Amino acid sequence: MDKKVQGTNEWLDCDYPMLIVGPCAVESYEMMEKIAEFLVSRNINVIRAGAYKPRTSPSDFQGLGDEGIRILDAIRKKYNVKIVSEIVDVRHIEMMCGKIDVLQVGSRNMYNYELLKELGKLDYHILLKRGLSATIAEFVCAAEYIVKGGNKKLALCERGVRSYDRSTRNLLDLSCVAIIKKETEFNIIVDISHSLGRKDIFVEMSKAALAAGADGIMVEAHHNPKAARSDSKQQMSLEELDRYLEAIVGRGNYRS
Ligand code: PEP
Ligand code: MN
Repeated sequence: MDKKVQGTNEWLDCDYPMLIVGPCAVESYEMMEKIAEFLVSRNINVIRAGAYKPRTSPSDFQGLGDEGIRILDAIRKKYNVKIVSEIVDVRHIEMMCGKIDVLQVGSRNMYNYELLKELGKLDYHILLKRGLSATIAEFVCAAEYIVKGGNKKLALCERGVRSYDRSTRNLLDLSCVAIIKKETEFNIIVDISHSLGRKDIFVEMSKAALAAGADGIMVEAHHNPKAARSDSKQQMSLEELDRYLEAIVGRGNYRS
């Protein structure tokens, strides 16, 4: 596609729509190799995967931590891809910078202003997710914490907000996307997996997100979703991903 993602934030230089794909969590080097190999063969060069997993229950898989970051660094070097991974603590900044291309601030940390201030001091790509029940105004204020510190390499991510309706995991708020595009200079990505929590409406809602003005889509994919250690219902298998790409970008091979 000729169109480029436009924005004054010098974030990732990429074609439209920006696609960020990968598993919920790094589970092993071998699984990351399988997934990365597949994504690169489809010309998807921005991969997501969490090493520090902020889980609701402390009994659930918490991620591989530092070891996960080292795995992602190895994958990034082997496949020449960019990696997006979540930072949960200011103490991890030094260890993650240089190994991860984009530091994701997860929904649970959107209100962690000390973390936002520290990220604002960096010259480093940041992806800020909307808080679980943050208003759009609070979301923009959180972004300003980073920008005010001097770091302009910021993009936002709508990931749905809490609702009374259990039909989807969260309520995907596409008005947020349209308002961010209208009223700010930020690029905004829609995380379709965490918004919906179910795969059967990914295509429809991704199209709607792009129609609302989203610069790109984040979606979870796993070589064996049923066996995934987290978020198994919202991760596409690689075969499902191929069908999804066909529906969203018109070809199985993104950007080719
Ligand atoms: C994630 O992207 O891995 C994640 C945990 O999402 P969120 O912070 O939006 O819940
Ligand atoms: Mn997940």
